[in-house]
Amino acid sequence: MTPDDERFLRRAIDLAAEARAGGNPPFGSLLVGPDGDVLAEERNTTLTDNDISAHPEQKLARWAARELDPAAAATTTMYTSCQPCGMCAGAIERSGLGRVVFALSTQQLTTLKPPTGPPPVRLDGPALFDEARVPVEGYYR
Ligand SMILES: [Zn+2]
Repeated sequence: MTPDDERFLRRAIDLAAEARAGGNPPFGSLLVGPDGDVLAEERNTTLTDNDISAHPEQKLARWAARELDPAAAATTTMYTSCQPCGMCAGAIERSGLGRVVFALSTQQLTTLKPPTGPPPVRLDGPALFDEARVPVEGYYR
């Protein structure tokens, strides 16, 4: 953790405070290029946008995948006020970002809020392999 890492993390914490002041859950993130330039910033807007996926990490990962080529994305660092959730971790992985630096860990966050979360979803499968494979076969080369 460098002094620059801590400076960018403090900005992420400021963005989290801004999200809270705007009526949303208190999370913020920014994406920084290899030369220390801030490429984009986001705040959680799940409540004001009525969008369960409007986590700042998710929005930045989607922005990077849309706006940066893979080589450029791999040089970026995401600074975020809290360890990314499972949904965001998947998006970050798919977006090809190079590094994530977070302030609060998931474990630390759980000490600061009541235990909540969606109930587990029932998953049934696999099924219909012979039919389901048809649109997939030959796509990946
Ligand atoms: Zn998330």
